[in-house]
Amino acid sequence: MRPSRALFSFLVLMAGGTLLAGFKISAAESQSTTEDQALKSLSALRPIDVHVHVFKTDPAFQAMLEKLNLKLINILVMDDTLSYRKELQPQVDDAWKLVHSSKGHVSLCTTFDPYKFNGSTFPKEAIQQIERDFKDGTIAVKIWKNIGMEIKDAKGNYIMPDDPKFGPIYATIQKRGRTLMSHVAEPDVAWGPPDPSDPVWSYYKENPQWLVGGKEGFPAKSTILEARDHILQQNPKLRMVGVHLGSMEKDLDGIASRFDRYPNFAIDTAARMEYLMLIPPEKVTAFLLRYQDRVLYGTDLDMTADANVDETVKSWLETYARDWRYFATDETFELNGKKVQGLKLPNPVLRKIYHSNALHWMAGIAAN
Ligand SMILES: [Zn+2]
Repeated sequence: MRPSRALFSFLVLMAGGTLLAGFKISAAESQSTTEDQALKSLSALRPIDVHVHVFKTDPAFQAMLEKLNLKLINILVMDDTLSYRKELQPQVDDAWKLVHSSKGHVSLCTTFDPYKFNGSTFPKEAIQQIERDFKDGTIAVKIWKNIGMEIKDAKGNYIMPDDPKFGPIYATIQKRGRTLMSHVAEPDVAWGPPDPSDPVWSYYKENPQWLVGGKEGFPAKSTILEARDHILQQNPKLRMVGVHLGSMEKDLDGIASRFDRYPNFAIDTAARMEYLMLIPPEKVTAFLLRYQDRVLYGTDLDMTADANVDETVKSWLETYARDWRYFATDETFELNGKKVQGLKLPNPVLRKIYHSNALHWMAGIAAN
């Protein structure tokens, strides 16, 4: 999911249009934080973005990381609906090139091939591969929404993330002291009805294969999330980061109840900041203060192999500055025509969300 990128591609396209103009005008008001100021304050926290997808190694991109004191966790995904994500090993090889050239700024979250689920060598080969990646320095393993929403077993049933066949994989991750990053299910809107005002609607316009509303025999979102919860319950020593607000993007109470039930569960904010921004600010603030040790900053920003690096860097910086204004200032700004109120979180809480929670929940992040 890359709605942040989609939003900012839109902003770039709309340069001179009302949306960008609105953003720029409010940022230019004398009392408002400029992009440079926001990025400077952000870099002082030595931020870690725990959720990106970078398919390219480039000096201008590296310069941005160094300037912002920024570390990234680069996440691999197997997706048979996208050509460049169909094969795992080329992704792993490219990702190591990026990690090794990053001077400690990039760490890797690997994955395994779930499309081999019905083969006789699963999960044995998957375990061999993640063990190899652990040896090379991988700090986490990702499972993705194709588990629960796409891949079927030999009987034709959708496989769920708590299928016993995955058990030995989760046990291996825990045994090695690594983290499971879970992206299971999707935002509510994927189950319908269609809602063009939803923050991630543009993603579904580009990727309609993940719109499941009205599709017969499709698992309910709650069924998939319950299977995710079952992993937490069965593996109490396994650290899990539920990415995208744990796929409970409109339900802070639902997240809170999982936090209370499962001490091994944390979430990242990737590609769901826009949802937080639409929830009443007092509610988000109370949630973040209470669960300040359980939330990791992530964006889901990406850079594909054919990306224009200058444009990519520009949109990444815009996203980082916008999110900083939301978390760290009491300013208001416009998002898709709606007014957003900054939360002005206390500095120690910002430091946790942007830095120390990542070190705790994603042990092994590269030092520099
Ligand atoms: Zn992602």
